[in-house]
Amino acid sequence: PPSPRPPSELQLHDVFIAVKTTRAFHRSRLELLLDTWVSRTREQTFIFTDSLDKGLQERLGSHLVVTNCSAEHSHPALSCKMAAEFDAFLASRLRWFCHVDDDNYLNPKALLKLLKAFPRTRDVYVGRPSLNRPIHASEPQPRNRTRLVQFWFATGGAGFCINRKLALKMAPWASGPRFMDTSALIRLPDDCTVGYIVECKLGGHLQPSPLFHSHLETLQLLRAAQLPEQVSLPPLSPLPGNSLVPTAGGPMNPDPLGEG
Ligand code: UDP
Ligand code: MN
Repeated sequence: PPSPRPPSELQLHDVFIAVKTTRAFHRSRLELLLDTWVSRTREQTFIFTDSLDKGLQERLGSHLVVTNCSAEHSHPALSCKMAAEFDAFLASRLRWFCHVDDDNYLNPKALLKLLKAFPRTRDVYVGRPSLNRPIHASEPQPRNRTRLVQFWFATGGAGFCINRKLALKMAPWASGPRFMDTSALIRLPDDCTVGYIVECKLGGHLQPSPLFHSHLETLQLLRAAQLPEQVSLPPLSPLPGNSLVPTAGGPMNPDPLGEG
């Protein structure tokens, strides 16, 4: 048998990248991703959707995961997909779980650089804080009482990552049907639920990173020279279904990092 090797330096092959999508965005959003950043991270990227799609199935094979989650924008439907992503990560035995939405451009080089910098001994939950203060939620307690809790969470739409050490500790609240139960308990969306589990259940902390970006912020303050350092970027022009778009504007540019 091969002799045990010391833990090697982190490589992209150690990262599990989960993309959340839905039937309505297979053509309008996902194709663009497959033609750009996903083509560089094909082996570690898994697309989680809610409907069969012959064309996508042919392109992605086992990397297309058709969940039993419903195709709607409800908290349970979205939490159902996050749960599927989390379980697939646990089964993969890879070292990092990273989640992104289908309207996000991921920069694998910058992602790897960020993740490499964390000591292996730490529990890590890294992403862009959704708000500039902790969110409040009421946690049901025995005998019809509730407890007010507050915690930070990373915006799902900007992407976030969790290392395996922390993910394993999250399993009692996040694996199998338990993620949906936890989300229902605090009546908050999937990304908030992740923050709740890490901070309120495990006493961990969100590690804020300004390198993740969603279309909910404007990119005005980012200079072109800084773009290659960013871990994730919103589309540089409106995508179907987006409520808000960055003011960076400009014509459709499917390769904002200019590497293509
Ligand atoms: N989404 C989904 N089911 C839906 C609507 C959206 O799974 O019914 C996914 C979508 O593919 C994306 C994420 O949820 O990955 C966020 O959706 P969107 O960008 O449209 O909304 P916003 O960012 O404004 O919350
Ligand atoms: Mn979005």
